[in-house]
Amino acid sequence: MDDRPPTTPTRTGLIRSMARGFLGRCPHCGEGRMFGRFLKVRPECGVCGLEMHHHRADDLPPYVVIFVVAHIVGYLILELEMGYDVPLWFQLTFWPLATLGMALALLQPVKGAVVGLQYALGMHGFATLPSAGSEGEESRFGPADGRTPDARAGLGRA
Ligand SMILES: [Zn+2]
Repeated sequence: MDDRPPTTPTRTGLIRSMARGFLGRCPHCGEGRMFGRFLKVRPECGVCGLEMHHHRADDLPPYVVIFVVAHIVGYLILELEMGYDVPLWFQLTFWPLATLGMALALLQPVKGAVVGLQYALGMHGFATLPSAGSEGEESRFGPADGRTPDARAGLGRA
């Protein structure tokens, strides 16, 4: 058992996991890509085999994005309105576009960070990690008994 595996068997820390997710990378190895499409998380990491299909980011990323973008845009609108004489047509054109752009730009990184958070805390099936140094069938740690990793880890409570 002295063979050092190419992938680490230990869980990545919270901050690093969320940072990797924010950058669209696998929270476990930091190399594989998290997203197949814009907001579609890949079933598993192509590099280390971490299963990601059981994440439950759900509505949290939009909530976070709305919270952040609204505070930034709201503050900037107030600052602009108080300090400068900006024409109405500019306000009506620029701010909706800026809001839309910021929201779309933040949505995927925030969702990645949320998935990284769930991974770091071992939530929703992230309780099990890929087998160290194995690819293919040995990294398939799916249960033979049909129970979800949540159920095995006793995390099935809603
Ligand atoms: Zn990975």
